[in-house]
Amino acid sequence: MAGQYDVIIIGSGPGGYVSAIRCSQLGLKTLCIEKCGNEGKPILGGTCLNVGCIPSKALLDTSSKLIEMEKLSSHGIDAGEISVDISTMQSRKQAVVKSLTQGVEGLFKLNKVDFLNGKAFIKTKNEIIVETSDGSKDSYTAKNIIVATGSSPIELNGIGDERKNIITSKEALELEEVPANIAIIGAGAIGLEIGSIWNRLGSNVVLLEALNEFLPQADKQISKQSLRILKNQGLDIKLGAKVLNAESFNNKVKVIYSCDSVEHEIIVDKLISAVGRKPFTHSLFAEDLNLEINSEGCVVVDELCCTSIPNIYAIGDVIGGQMLAHKASEEAVMVSENIHKQASSKVDYNLIPSVIYTHPEIAWVGLSEEDASKKGFDLSTGSFPFSINGRALASGDTEGFVKTIVDNKNDKIIGVHILGSNASELLQQAVVAMRMNSSAEDLSRTIFSHPSLSEALHESILSAKGKAIHLNNRKKK
Ligand code: FAD
Ligand code: AMP
Repeated sequence: MAGQYDVIIIGSGPGGYVSAIRCSQLGLKTLCIEKCGNEGKPILGGTCLNVGCIPSKALLDTSSKLIEMEKLSSHGIDAGEISVDISTMQSRKQAVVKSLTQGVEGLFKLNKVDFLNGKAFIKTKNEIIVETSDGSKDSYTAKNIIVATGSSPIELNGIGDERKNIITSKEALELEEVPANIAIIGAGAIGLEIGSIWNRLGSNVVLLEALNEFLPQADKQISKQSLRILKNQGLDIKLGAKVLNAESFNNKVKVIYSCDSVEHEIIVDKLISAVGRKPFTHSLFAEDLNLEINSEGCVVVDELCCTSIPNIYAIGDVIGGQMLAHKASEEAVMVSENIHKQASSKVDYNLIPSVIYTHPEIAWVGLSEEDASKKGFDLSTGSFPFSINGRALASGDTEGFVKTIVDNKNDKIIGVHILGSNASELLQQAVVAMRMNSSAEDLSRTIFSHPSLSEALHESILSAKGKAIHLNNRKKK
């Protein structure tokens, strides 16, 4: 037996590494096992740090700086000839990733978390077999196991070409040249962010989305306006376009899709599949463990993230729901504290913020107007455009608006939706307010500094109450 632990965590993404640190902080003897590695040393951080949230934001930032530079002439600044060196862009991204993954390693050492590189297999409810890169196998025992194995990209049936020109988000974030023509399957968060990066860097980008509706999870007003803005930026977003097949030839890809019952064919340099992700449970559980997995491949858990086996927990993408890093981390804290028998509040799934990091950013929390109406709320809505916000005008970044939804019965804020520059940061004020159970009145009586983008949130709440100052209120109070 190689080692005995209070908790063994499988996976070191934002679910796994956060639970490892929290368990260790609580005095539990903790081991984190990560299958990704280099020469026997684990590469920590999971999808988020290595091939997801962080590298995508690094490239979004580089490409958005390029667009900002192109707009500088309106400020009277002549930036001269501008160009981007893709290899420098990629090495900067890699340096950002490395600093964060090494940061996790530092935190593990600081908190005395044991960690190792190997592929974990749960043999019994207390025994894990770890296969290392040299093929050797060791057995570890744990009183509790946390499964945080994440997810992998969904592959479309029959579409693939050994990852050269038909690729997933991972390879799309590693390209060393700007492809002339790109098609992306799926206009969800990942498709839109990757499409934005390469479109800004000069590719012609077409997004093929099977659904007739753009961003159906978002508030309709937000999705309608964001579609118009993103199309104006040059993203060719085709709705109702279902990809049927794709094949490589002469270093190009032929993509067949149907739209309005008509088959179309396009030729592109790269085809990026961004059709969603599926929970990763391959070769993870012994069959006779009988751990319950649902028809979508998600590990089934209760509200405390406990699986059908009482001492085995699962968190993050592997249990489905909103596949977001901050959801995984919050579940991690809850599970760790519950293992330690510390009173821990349950994750409030109604207050998980969603952000799409396009420009302008699209961010929301709580209910959309459509969902709130369907649920029968007597609601008031308010909105305020950035085009008349002083700070937005000063910086020349005026697209989008803030929309708030208030429950008239108790004056509670039940949804906030922002399309705008820095929407991700602005939204967090609403998340805090909602978490504190703030009423619309509380927020409307809060002092916002001037001039700031946040004033748009303030005015939006005021407008829901018919009290906006810098806007013609639909109803006045
Ligand atoms: P993961 O981060 O996937 O980590 C799981 C880890 O488990 C992996 O390192 C894997 O190697 C390891 N593992 C799996 N099986 C085993 C095994 N048998 N033994 C040992 N180790 C194993 N989310 C956001 O919130 N914001 C964003 O901006 C954002 N952007 C994204 C952009 C892209 C391109 C992608 C692909 C995703 C993005 N996400 C974003 C989603 C986010 O990355 C995931 O929700 C998050 O990483 C899930 O965390 P996790 O801990 O559940 O799993
Ligand atoms: P998300 O799940 O938010 O990452 O988005 C994935 C998107 O891909 C969804 O909006 C799906 O409708 C879309 N999608 C899935 N399969 C296809 C397909 N064959 N052709 C075009 N779009 C697809």
